[in-house]
Amino acid sequence: MKIKFLGGGNEVGRSALVVDDKIIIDYGMKPSDPLEIPLPLSSRNGNISPESVILSHAHLDHSGMAASLMSGADAPEAYMTPVTRDIVKLLGRDTIKLGKEQGFAFFGEEEIAKLDANTHTLAYGERRVLNSSDYEFELHNAGHIPGSSTVYLRKESEDISLLYTGDIKIGDTRLVESVSSDDFPASDILLIESTYYGRDHGNRKELERKFIDSIKDTLNSGGNAIVPCFAIGRTQEIVMILHSYGLTPYVDGMGLSVFSIFKNHPSSVKDVDALKNAFNNAQFVNAKRRKKAISEPSVIVTTSGMLNGGPVLYYLKRIHEDPKSKVLLTGYQLEGTNGRRLIDEGYVEAEGEIVKVNASVEYFDFSAHAGDSELKEIVSRFCRNGTEVVFMVHGDNTEGFAAWASDKYGCEAIAPNNGEEFIIE
Ligand SMILES: [Zn+2]
Repeated sequence: MKIKFLGGGNEVGRSALVVDDKIIIDYGMKPSDPLEIPLPLSSRNGNISPESVILSHAHLDHSGMAASLMSGADAPEAYMTPVTRDIVKLLGRDTIKLGKEQGFAFFGEEEIAKLDANTHTLAYGERRVLNSSDYEFELHNAGHIPGSSTVYLRKESEDISLLYTGDIKIGDTRLVESVSSDDFPASDILLIESTYYGRDHGNRKELERKFIDSIKDTLNSGGNAIVPCFAIGRTQEIVMILHSYGLTPYVDGMGLSVFSIFKNHPSSVKDVDALKNAFNNAQFVNAKRRKKAISEPSVIVTTSGMLNGGPVLYYLKRIHEDPKSKVLLTGYQLEGTNGRRLIDEGYVEAEGEIVKVNASVEYFDFSAHAGDSELKEIVSRFCRNGTEVVFMVHGDNTEGFAAWASDKYGCEAIAPNNGEEFIIE
């Protein structure tokens, strides 16, 4: 089995790999400035055209470039969960819109329609044979966001299998049914994300309480609590947390459309009634109502999560000089994004303007990724069950993680670079 890494090697973002020049697993973009996309699809004999693409989940850095594979006559068939399909379509349209504003075009409406037409959806645990019939694969719950999957792929003729974790979360969240490392099929090769290698998450309940206390302090002092959230997963999780503590947030941005998609796929979330109750309790904001939302002490859950665009910039411009107000970051802030600049240097760039933020900025680790000890537990379990080769991908310190695994278990652990290919027998 040949595995070539087109993105996600020693970096977080633009996850993409191709198996035997035939099957693409994930095809994302890196939402940095400028955007980065996977390396070109090629082999020694020239450009290749894969037959299939499997998407682990709907986050942009795993699926945001999938539509670009659909131009031309021999577009691949695509495989994903039903909720991933709906969100990929929504995000594809958003990417086209963003491209018009920022001057890039990787695909158009036609490619989005083609991707949708070529998509086959499948449930967790359902086994499918791919067109080339030498391969079979399954998706399993990855516990990361609704519809997120690990990908198990087996090549019949070589009797070899791989498990690609995608983005994975072990342990409880309010939104998604939790998974344990025992839930995945054993495989000869493991490809594991490494986002939080070297960092553990604290106790989730304590984190929720600190978050809520901080918001209540802000409201009591007459300020606005701005909570930038990723639209997919994080917005819904945070709205559920706020609701459970009796707070009524304003919700602005794409998180609302994503909520509607989750609602249409009730089995993709842990408790659809709890999710619906939380959103019934929230107040929705569009461009016209923003002024009202910010004119009184309030908690505003809004996109984008890394502050690179979206309504959050409107709110930041309104509160940036107000020491009573607060920005509560709820997720990983990638290098090169406004969120990272805000943490490191205290400013953001909004429409070419530098906005110095004097309101306080706090970070809450509501991560939907496995922490250090969970990542190590997964590697340990796979190595004990016969996995011989482990690839560490999607992280800032994949080399450290690989060194740990080969020291500890003596397995072949590799931190691949983008463009590298490996033949595993
Ligand atoms: Zn993700």
